[in-house]
Amino acid sequence: MATLHGIAVSKGVVIGRAIVFDAGSRRMPRRTLPADRIDDELARFEAASVEAVDSLKRAHETAREEMGDEAARVFLFHLGMLQDKELVAPVRKMIRNQQVSAEYAVSEIFGQWERRFAASSDSMFQTKADDVRDLADRLVSTLLGETQGTIGDLTGMVVVGRDLTPSQTIEAARAGAAAIVTSLGGPTSHTAIVAKALHLPAIVGCSGVTRTVQSGDQLIVDADKGTLLVDPDEETLAEYAHIIEQRETYHLTLDEIAGLEAQTSDGVSIGLHGNIEFPDEISDVLRIGGSGVGLYRTEFLYLTSRTEPTEEEQYTAYARCVELLDGGPLTIRTLDLGADKYTQSREEIPERNPFLGCRSIRLSFHRIASFKTQLRAILRASRLGPLRIMFPLITSIEEFRRARLIVHDVMEDLAEEGQPITQTPPIGMMIEVPSAALLSEQFAREADFFSIGTNDLVQYTLAVDRTNERVAHLYQPTHPAVLQLIRQVVAAAQNHKVPVSCCGESAGDPEFALLLIGLGVRTLSATPDSIPALKRAVRSVDIRTCERIADKALTLDSAPEIATFIRDRARKIAPEAFDGRSDE
Ligand code: PEP
Ligand code: MG
Repeated sequence: MATLHGIAVSKGVVIGRAIVFDAGSRRMPRRTLPADRIDDELARFEAASVEAVDSLKRAHETAREEMGDEAARVFLFHLGMLQDKELVAPVRKMIRNQQVSAEYAVSEIFGQWERRFAASSDSMFQTKADDVRDLADRLVSTLLGETQGTIGDLTGMVVVGRDLTPSQTIEAARAGAAAIVTSLGGPTSHTAIVAKALHLPAIVGCSGVTRTVQSGDQLIVDADKGTLLVDPDEETLAEYAHIIEQRETYHLTLDEIAGLEAQTSDGVSIGLHGNIEFPDEISDVLRIGGSGVGLYRTEFLYLTSRTEPTEEEQYTAYARCVELLDGGPLTIRTLDLGADKYTQSREEIPERNPFLGCRSIRLSFHRIASFKTQLRAILRASRLGPLRIMFPLITSIEEFRRARLIVHDVMEDLAEEGQPITQTPPIGMMIEVPSAALLSEQFAREADFFSIGTNDLVQYTLAVDRTNERVAHLYQPTHPAVLQLIRQVVAAAQNHKVPVSCCGESAGDPEFALLLIGLGVRTLSATPDSIPALKRAVRSVDIRTCERIADKALTLDSAPEIATFIRDRARKIAPEAFDGRSDE
């Protein structure tokens, strides 16, 4: 049995047989044409492009129905590429100057772009290599008169590939595939986004998978943890069959509690909100028992679009959120681009240390016009229903004041244009760097709300890159330094009656949630999937118990000690509420 590791981008556990897709780019043989055939060949290329545009429009429509507006925009992205002169003009030039077939020119030129993207040091460009390949496949298939979407039945199979394209991922899901595993790709690639939108368990960045796995091999895909087991022994199979069964029962019981109140056993309400990247995820949040959105990561609008989203595009997305929430809480975070999120795109000189560079609110200040465009869209949407504006990565009071002032400037602009905003939305901030946590008293006098972002707070407090596998063991949310900062922030918020929530990944961990509740946090915002388990945990404890857990945890010396302590206590209080996979 071999065990491989990758990045889990869409959760689930699956046992199935492998089918290995040859995901290499299709290389067409060079075919030279007589000079008098070149005009016809160019016309053939134009016709194929028109047909590809039509098929992309159709794919976009179907994908909207299956995955919602935002994820489906991947196809609009492809449409944009197909209309990009920089990409397409060299194909025509090659057909004309070298007198070659259109198929050959497409595979050559697109192949060059794909290699250029793949070799880029910028992770945002790297992930676009799949998109170029996807588009090349579509054009070549059209030129060859092949029909798209003709893969056979994949029911229950695990599709393994070097790097599946977004279209292949959709086709695989339609054909019944149970999971996908790829050796390349990152968490923000279009393929990862599509898998997540389709609820198809997926592991990407699983290096060595295409060398290790052959079609027909038995696999266990643990996309909760990002582990792939190849050719497992009987004992492991039985163990995982049990985990799958447990997971199913667990999810059934979680479904049952979706409609119940998120209240501790002594009657204190805890807000359970979802972190979303796309407006359509709100339906999932509400269906599984969440009551609002604590973090809308608006930078994902940029990921599915080739150019900067316009004010109208942004307004449509924000208005859709307000509409879907129907009066429920909505916190829209302004752009948090940079560092782990689509770093360095189009920067001539890449930053040496982007996590400490011009990211998040700093980038917004750097690009005031775009920042104002986003704020205009948010403020206009605020007329339709309640929403809050949140700034990321605030490190000093001047930054907060400056950002808030820009909101007021934009409100004045709107008023002058005859679109006044009669009620200023609450303006708050992420607490995700130690300086903000340490100065939370000062911030609490001015900010309307706080949201503690443990993902970055842990990284910046402990000096551990949150995306670096080599130091992953040092990334410890239960580190005493982190807990002390959280305690300080909550105390400042309470002093000034400023609402405080937590929206880092840790807020979605039921055991860590007890600690947060014990420290005084009353709203947790997490990935939608984690809401039911959080609700079950919340309902199984009372506030006093949580406070005792927090008090004791803060007396312990180290992160592992604290983690073990809260785990033991949680399981003692309510064993059934604290683990869907009790044999972990
Ligand atoms: C955080 O840093 O905790 C957070 C919620 O924001 P993001 O993960 O988007 O950086
Ligand atoms: Mg953050």
